[in-house]
Amino acid sequence: MKKILLMILDGVGDRPSKCLENRTPLGAARIPNIDSLIKNSLCGLMDSVGKGIKPESDNAHLSIFDYNLKKYYTGRGPLEASGLEMKMNHGDIAFRANFATIDDSGIIKDRRTGRIESVKPFVNKLNGMKIDGIKFLLKAGTSHRACLIMRGKGLGSKISDNDPHKTGVKPILIKALNSGKEAKFTADVLNKFLEKANHILDEMKLNKERNKQGKLKANYLLVRGAGIYKKIPTFKEKYKLNACCIAGGGLYKGVARATGMKILKVKGATGTLETDINAKINAAINAFKKYNFVFVHIKGTDILGHDGKCKEKMEFIEKIDSKLKPIIKLKNTVIVITGDHSTPCRIKDHSADPVPLMIFCNKNDQIKHFSEKDCGAGSLGRILGTDLMPILLKLAKNK
Ligand code: ZN
Ligand code: ZN
Repeated sequence: MKKILLMILDGVGDRPSKCLENRTPLGAARIPNIDSLIKNSLCGLMDSVGKGIKPESDNAHLSIFDYNLKKYYTGRGPLEASGLEMKMNHGDIAFRANFATIDDSGIIKDRRTGRIESVKPFVNKLNGMKIDGIKFLLKAGTSHRACLIMRGKGLGSKISDNDPHKTGVKPILIKALNSGKEAKFTADVLNKFLEKANHILDEMKLNKERNKQGKLKANYLLVRGAGIYKKIPTFKEKYKLNACCIAGGGLYKGVARATGMKILKVKGATGTLETDINAKINAAINAFKKYNFVFVHIKGTDILGHDGKCKEKMEFIEKIDSKLKPIIKLKNTVIVITGDHSTPCRIKDHSADPVPLMIFCNKNDQIKHFSEKDCGAGSLGRILGTDLMPILLKLAKNK
């Protein structure tokens, strides 16, 4: 069986832009390495989650790995917690959390505590608190970010967020989103915790010092993306594949870890525009000594889509391509290049537009350039994210 390299350029899909003479960033990019691979590739378009559905990165990746979202996706929280290597038990409820600043009248002044460097001391202060038999576990992420886990009996994840996504207003009271007693109980206990946490944080010496220095206090937790933890079958159980992941962003590592992939540490892989693409590609090539499925994630394309920078997005794609020479030399490997969703610069957000897909194997569609338009003429037609893994496994088994 051949090995499989899956490269996901986050949010790579786009729409024609005026600044690129009505071409998309991919359409306008000079990508000689990718275009040399495409001469021996099957091409198509992919709706990662479903036709007409605007994906988020987390559900898009799970779907591309062919996990049934109805069964396995309950919210972003557990995947973020997995990214921070928090151990979860069946029935735990996990959230993404921001340390924020509220004033004395409870109005949000800053949703990210001025992008504070680290929230570790605040996390340590709250970690392990117990209210009504429910334990609250926290772990710090980068900057103002953290994850929160609620552990105990009778919890449910059908509850709202408290983040209004703007300043100058009070946080929203957490509410149950269905009539079940689990959701009501969870919302009530969480509201108690958030209020108590606010008092504890506000009284912390460190926050008083910050206040004196004119810095924002990290005195409130904004939580969102509640999800209940469910164990999902691993890549090994599902496909008998020995899989690893090379990514900078916590969420992508989280999704990969949830599917049992080994997360490789790569120096310089940051999940930002400064990420060391060379290091990631070299790590991927080395990884094939031990693994037969390597997932490489590159985030920059999505960041530039959200910023609406079409020329920079094109240049970033060209930069990725310039580092791919070593990939061309890989033998006995099926190579996939695609995105998890489109992030068109024009709308600065994800969209339901399908993403271009190319699968380097010993077949071809006589397509010369990797773009939305060119891939649309490929023999794979328009597939769903959940179709990809079965196609790859079939191609990998072909001599
Ligand atoms: Zn994404
Ligand atoms: Zn995005």
